[in-house]
Amino acid sequence: MSYDPDNVFAKILRGELPCKKVHETEHALAFHDINPLTPVHVLVIPKGAYTDFADFTANAGPEEICGFWQAVHDVARMTGVEDSGFRIVANKGADAGQIVFHFHVHVFGGRPVSGSMVRPARD
Ligand code: AMP
Repeated sequence: MSYDPDNVFAKILRGELPCKKVHETEHALAFHDINPLTPVHVLVIPKGAYTDFADFTANAGPEEICGFWQAVHDVARMTGVEDSGFRIVANKGADAGQIVFHFHVHVFGGRPVSGSMVRPARD
């Protein structure tokens, strides 16, 4: 699948759509999910144009990959869930239910989220 530069997260990166920003680094942007499933539900996206986890892992450079995952860790710290615990999820493709085809990681926390195989259920 080729990258669609008009996907919603590309528009957020270009400042064409708003977001509730949590964190920004050279390599990543983090913002609150518009439809949160848990008290902390933050999306972390790389600044580069990658459709999904596989595209990112295969094609991003080592600095981008490292910077991205460091930003995920920053978000866990900044949202106060590092000690209580959190779940990170990356949906890749149809069977995972990926909706937005710009690679992103969900950070879920703020309450127990260990029960589900997939996304945490709503409160
Ligand atoms: P998925 O692609 O299945 O991993 O999920 C995409 C996520 O993006 C969903 O949890 C949506 O609620 C979220 N989302 C979609 N549009 C926006 C937006 N404009 N701002 C923040 N989150 C969004």
